[in-house]
Amino acid sequence: MGLHDMPPYRQMALVWRYLLEYTVGEIDAMIRAAEGKTCRSYRFAGCGTYTCQRGDDGRHHLLCNNIPVCAVMPSRRRRATQPPGSWRHSQSCLSWTDGTRYRVQAPPEAWDRETRALVVGVSRRIEVTWQVTLIGEPTDPGLVRSRHRCPIPADWPGYQGIDRPGGRERARLVAELGAQCHLCQQSPGAILDHDHFTGLIRGLLCIGCNNNLEECLHVTGCPRADYLNAPPAARLRLYYPQPDRLAKHDKELRRIAYLGFDPRFQPASRRLPKTVRELPPPPAGTGIDLTAVSEQPLF
Ligand SMILES: [Zn+2]
Ligand SMILES: [Zn+2]
Ligand SMILES: [Zn+2]
Ligand SMILES: [Zn+2]
Ligand SMILES: [Zn+2]
Repeated sequence: MGLHDMPPYRQMALVWRYLLEYTVGEIDAMIRAAEGKTCRSYRFAGCGTYTCQRGDDGRHHLLCNNIPVCAVMPSRRRRATQPPGSWRHSQSCLSWTDGTRYRVQAPPEAWDRETRALVVGVSRRIEVTWQVTLIGEPTDPGLVRSRHRCPIPADWPGYQGIDRPGGRERARLVAELGAQCHLCQQSPGAILDHDHFTGLIRGLLCIGCNNNLEECLHVTGCPRADYLNAPPAARLRLYYPQPDRLAKHDKELRRIAYLGFDPRFQPASRRLPKTVRELPPPPAGTGIDLTAVSEQPLF
């Protein structure tokens, strides 16, 4: 099976992708060579079902398979002393001071050039630990604003509330198909994946799946091919609402220059009218004598 066994939009996407490097015949040969194999799965954050829950510290915490990813996993000995449902958090930072100045790190002049020893001021590592009991209902991590999130870095998806561009489309996808990545089901859905030529949204993907999806050369039998051949969100007919970030990429611009036109979808806000229809001026003197109109201030 080759290029022409793929749905037309996949053919188009691959020809576009390799426009500057390969001929259609070479792309077809690459597809035939890839037959019987599958793409290896990329998992950046992936390990299971992601939710989020509010804690008694007022912050929201990211959970994977019901375990907070930000918590310190207790040792067996500690588990016995820790109340059930309470999760230890630990964060440390460096601090330096010479009594008048305070810095996260010692400035260059505080170090001896040769021995690399600290000669001015004192440097300390400050560790803060706190216990968190989860009290809220499990919610969608994509709907928690950054400032409400636990300060310990974790693989949170970006905030994608209804007030953000694409937030409405995402809400619809989550209601119909869930908040987990619609391809791998292993990471939180973070990106509105769409067809760059029609603008139709294919699904909600994690960052890993979204980055690597379109390199798939498999006609069938690969999870990415299955997703592209029958996009889970296709039946919803949702359009990508934002101007494309890819639009400005140098490689994309070189492809456009090579083709002589831009085949990619542009949302309505970006589509400018090509020609402005010239209307004839209104006929003069149709009854209103402007010199007789007196203006009254409104306020
Ligand atoms: Zn936390
Ligand atoms: Zn909140
Ligand atoms: Zn994924
Ligand atoms: Zn696009
Ligand atoms: Zn594949």
